[in-house]
Amino acid sequence: MNDNSTLRINQQRLWDSLMQMAEIGATNKGGCNRQALTTLDKQARDLFVRHAQQANCDILIDEIGNIFARRPGKNNQSPAVITGSHLDTQPTGGKFDGVYGVLAGLEVLRVLDENNIETQHPIEVVVWMNEEGARFSPACMGSGVWSGNMTLHDAYQTRDKEGLSVGDELERIGYKGTLPATPRPIKAAFEAHIEQGPILEKQQKQIGIVTGIQGLRWYELTLGGVPCHAGPTPMEDRKDPVQAMLPILQYCYQLAADNGPWGRATIGDIKTLQGSPNTVPESLTINIDLRHPDADVISEMARKLALKVTQCCQQYDVTYQLKETWRMEVTNFSPLCVDAVTTAVNALGYPHMNIVSGAGHDSLYVAQQAPTSMIFVPCEGGLSHNEAENAASDDLAAGANVLLQAMLLQEN
Ligand SMILES: [Zn+2]
Repeated sequence: MNDNSTLRINQQRLWDSLMQMAEIGATNKGGCNRQALTTLDKQARDLFVRHAQQANCDILIDEIGNIFARRPGKNNQSPAVITGSHLDTQPTGGKFDGVYGVLAGLEVLRVLDENNIETQHPIEVVVWMNEEGARFSPACMGSGVWSGNMTLHDAYQTRDKEGLSVGDELERIGYKGTLPATPRPIKAAFEAHIEQGPILEKQQKQIGIVTGIQGLRWYELTLGGVPCHAGPTPMEDRKDPVQAMLPILQYCYQLAADNGPWGRATIGDIKTLQGSPNTVPESLTINIDLRHPDADVISEMARKLALKVTQCCQQYDVTYQLKETWRMEVTNFSPLCVDAVTTAVNALGYPHMNIVSGAGHDSLYVAQQAPTSMIFVPCEGGLSHNEAENAASDDLAAGANVLLQAMLLQEN
């Protein structure tokens, strides 16, 4: 390896940083509620910025509120080696999802700074804005705008349930920057993250070398019926969207099972209009999430779902609208970056395996613009998007060491 192959991150400092960050938006059940562009998100961003400045980094903020902590290299015109993730959480989120990737990156900056390492290329740690999509949909908004998957205008106009817009909230918390939200030249990009699934733990591996990300489709399905009284109206005279919904929901799970073990189907939200105990609802809106790591398979799942919806709605004489609200294509990560991670893991001697990400990440959009890969570490019971989310300090340190060494391999 290189001259810096003996450098290691500071495990205790990484853990302490995670616990300090977790105090911002801490919930009673030990998790975090720190949704994008809230005052708590501002506090988390301020804390990161302070720490990065203490490690002698320059802070750049772009128009969509992504933060770049930049550590200059010998050749400052050369493309940067970057890493990063997100600081926002789900409403009942944990301490590690996203935060780990940011603070593992901060730890890399601190190690380079305290050892006075001069890298050839600049090193940057990014905090991507609104990865979770919990308050403002869609998810991965900051990296989505940056990579050209969403316009700045559309992102600014996006509103939360209270009607507050991304543009106004960015301004309110002081993170509407002036740097254009477009990629600057990047040599390589990495993201450390908890796995958010049970595979590494089950296989007793400390590191997952992530080779790609599953494809994803989000649908909003609205079924329209005719509201009527629950008592006097005979069953055969109804146009009841709930009756059409049942076989559709069942079919979603069937699709996942038929395309196992990687097929996934999730019904995350069901709303009825008007929602009264003794009235057939006028309409129903269902959110469906389908995933698979094979592009052909997920297209086939999507086609079959649309067919089933048509059949069921005809059968129960209800109207429907099936709207695809978000799509992520299957991502295969850069062999260059996957190799760097593999070389680093082998040199460090941690138990490891190759793995595909079941969740979407900012790296998906970053991968469209730069050679990219990810590093996974196990989380307890595979639990994530949950206040009980937990990870072992040893595993987190191992992942951060892999990140440090993979970045060093790419920086000269
Ligand atoms: Zn995440």
